[in-house]
Amino acid sequence: MIQLFMPLNFLGFVYREIRRALTDLESMLALLKRTPKVVNLTGAPDLKLDKGQIEFRNVTFGYQPQRHILRGLNLTVPSGQKLAVVGASGAGKSTLARLLYRFYDVDNGGIFIDGQNIAEVTQESVRQQVAIVPQDTVLFNTSIRDNIAYGRPGACDKDIEQAIDLAHLRGFIDSLPEGDKTIVGERGLKVSGGEKQRIAIARVILKRSPILVFDEATSALDSGAEAAIVNALAEVARGHTTVVIAHRLSTVVDADRIVVLADGAVVERGTHTELLSQAGHYANLWAMQQANADHT
Ligand code: ADP
Ligand code: MG
Repeated sequence: MIQLFMPLNFLGFVYREIRRALTDLESMLALLKRTPKVVNLTGAPDLKLDKGQIEFRNVTFGYQPQRHILRGLNLTVPSGQKLAVVGASGAGKSTLARLLYRFYDVDNGGIFIDGQNIAEVTQESVRQQVAIVPQDTVLFNTSIRDNIAYGRPGACDKDIEQAIDLAHLRGFIDSLPEGDKTIVGERGLKVSGGEKQRIAIARVILKRSPILVFDEATSALDSGAEAAIVNALAEVARGHTTVVIAHRLSTVVDADRIVVLADGAVVERGTHTELLSQAGHYANLWAMQQANADHT
């Protein structure tokens, strides 16, 4: 009897282990699909952050070799300032954000943080210093709390609670029977686009990197909720170098500088007031959005 029982028990163990490995493998593959291969140069040092200045120098990049998405892009974000990037959909805004996080290496030119080419330092060190709320957030099949804590593994409870409050997630979490232990992700509770964005924002708040990138981070929120979160984010971003990619221009009026991207290059740059007086792309976009706002 014992002889029969042991192998069965062992088989059960093997079965559970394989199941677990497969689940891990699935989530890993899901990540890999979105994480193209960037290879560290042999002996590459870590990025040494100083003041957090960003520079795109003549950056050319395409997902396919024959199709350039960014063409000779130049821009600088002085340390501690907020740069807004606006432009029509397909202009290359999200591509710019992904390159800064070193999801991909550029084809030509370079991206520099405090004078160091991010392609020549370790990818991990770049990702430590840069926190991004992507346009399309992936939630892991785990609890809401773990999804947030992923921003900074080992974060203390107090910091996690604070990130939950700043991202205006408290009401949502309290409305769930299992609270922050509720499982989300593909196999868990289906959360709305706005809730997903707020989870991603909480992650970034918790991560507290010196450089922050928000890629249409509040696009799925209604304008009331958006205003509240934009204010919270302005607080969080104080003193950090920030790149905000915006769909609603009303959220970028206060940026230190604004660039308008069209067809992978900067076509206008200036402050909100300067750009309005140029009566170009930005002024047109602004007039269009004001007209729409008046209708709603
Ligand atoms: P934006 O954020 O300004 O709307 P994107 O940077 O997302 O623009 O996209 C710019 C261009 O790059 C688009 O033509 C888009 O189809 C293309 N593109 C974006 N992501 C990928 C990808 N992963 N593979 C191939 N082409 C892509
Ligand atoms: Mg985009």
